[in-house]
Amino acid sequence: MNEVIGTHSQDGNLVHDRLSIPRQKIEKQAPTERVNNFDETYMSMSMDAAIVEAARCIDCPSAPCMDACPVHNDIPSALKMLENDDVLGAASKFRETSTLPEMCGRLCPQEILCEGACVVGFALRTDGSKHPPVAIGRLEAFITDQERKITNKFPIRFVGPTTNRSVAIIGSGPAGLTVAEELQVRGHKCTIFDRWPEAGGVLRYGIPNFKMNKEILEEKLLSLREIGVKFKNSVEIGTDVTLEALRNRHGFDSIFLGNGAGIGNLLKTEGEDLTHVYQATDFLVRGNLDDFELPEDQRGLPFVGDDVVVVGGGDTSMDCVRTAVRLGARNVTCVYRRTENEMLGRTEERVHAREEGVNFSYLTTPTRFISDEEGKVVSVELVQMELSEPDDSGRRRPVQIEDSEYTISASAVVIAIGYNADSDLGESSEVETDNWGLIQVDARTGQTNIPYIFAGGDVVNGADLVVTAIADGKRAATWVHQYLLSLGVKDSVD
Ligand SMILES: Cc1cc2nc3c(=O)[nH]c(=O)nc-3n(C[C@H](O)[C@H](O)[C@H](O)COP(=O)(O)OP(=O)(O)OC[C@H]3O[C@@H](n4cnc5c(N)ncnc54)[C@H](O)[C@@H]3O)c2cc1C
Ligand code: SF4
Repeated sequence: MNEVIGTHSQDGNLVHDRLSIPRQKIEKQAPTERVNNFDETYMSMSMDAAIVEAARCIDCPSAPCMDACPVHNDIPSALKMLENDDVLGAASKFRETSTLPEMCGRLCPQEILCEGACVVGFALRTDGSKHPPVAIGRLEAFITDQERKITNKFPIRFVGPTTNRSVAIIGSGPAGLTVAEELQVRGHKCTIFDRWPEAGGVLRYGIPNFKMNKEILEEKLLSLREIGVKFKNSVEIGTDVTLEALRNRHGFDSIFLGNGAGIGNLLKTEGEDLTHVYQATDFLVRGNLDDFELPEDQRGLPFVGDDVVVVGGGDTSMDCVRTAVRLGARNVTCVYRRTENEMLGRTEERVHAREEGVNFSYLTTPTRFISDEEGKVVSVELVQMELSEPDDSGRRRPVQIEDSEYTISASAVVIAIGYNADSDLGESSEVETDNWGLIQVDARTGQTNIPYIFAGGDVVNGADLVVTAIADGKRAATWVHQYLLSLGVKDSVD
């Protein structure tokens, strides 16, 4: 249990009283312990600590945290309810605006969203240092976890009278799940199609358990089934069935495309096809999931051996290095061609990786993967880089330093250098995409060039965040609903 530091302010309106409450410590599993399991790194807060942390919110009238949150959670109201011991009220407040608050509380990069805008985080102490922002994300996760503990499940939303209109949703990631929930409760019949054997998108097939345990996802899916959402897995749209067939043969009135950005970028470096050189998603799903969740040809733990090299500097590469550690690799090295300052992922994740013994090799890039006679990778040839002067965009390009090649051992390699949109929906698809394959939509409604087809999430924005996919899903659901209403009443589903 967390130790509670600080006390409740007697006069809740006194800002300086509230600022004097220190940020409550959120316990983590010790690194030596957590490298031996896939359980979440963070442990749950105690109720006392959570109430004290909520009391750090100064309830500022402008609440910039709400603007900075892509789904505009009413954070001050929720925290006030928690402070007043109304944890169920606080959870309902988060659920008014978000379909997956326990996931966002764990997964959002809060430092650049709600917590980055928190006014408390800008207040100065007498020594000139800044107060840390309120731990909004961890509180959101705590509050909604508590609600599920108390009520023993995800809250089941009330479903309005049926409209007999039906919607096909392609992709069961956060965008698709959100659209399904929002439309089902408005009385429409939703079916989610996904090419993976189980639902969840990257929430299952990407994000490791040590960041978010999968029980939350399972409970969420159960709650969606309870309100009538149907799931059709191992179905690839474009190959097994076309968009046109969904509309013309299967009678869906509208389609939502939430098919994500699941195409892993290739390095295009010699030896990338060697045995034990993995793409990030393949490595993560094999390393984190049970066989029943995977297609037959993707089952079994990935081989790691002693020396794992992970190429890339974003959050996915941190997920890969930390998975490799848990799979038993002795030396895990993250290779990145720029410096730590240019890394795009969360600082917190790098801290966790370092605590778990991961090495970082900055200003370095692979030039060749080298194999033994059996075609298995045994080493990586690397070259050192330096950063150029800033170009017109202000970014400093990595430039290879001549004659700086060197070789390190590698029993396995993981390529984690980002993702592209997964917008290939078959040859007959007439949905407009841009040069990068991103689906083009009306920014206000999420509608594509085909009036009955809407889209959102990573397939529109490029590889982004869980919370932005939820925001897109909410927006699209509003406009799909309008579109369905415009079709008029239907007597029964064909
Ligand atoms: C390894 C990893 C870690 C991440 N960590 C974080 C994090 O910590 N925090 C955070 O906010 N974000 C994180 N992200 C990003 C986040 O997961 C995504 O932005 C989010 O999942 C996008 O949601 P989505 O619904 O648009 O698509 P997805 O979650 O990608 O779901 C799309 C689904 O569509 C399915 N699909 C695609 N094409 C077809 C087809 N033709 N037919 C049928 N189904 C199809 C796919 O199988 C997939 O299940 C991470 C991403 C990765 C890859
Ligand atoms: S959804 Fe994300 S950005 Fe919004 S309050 Fe929660 S953690 Fe912050």
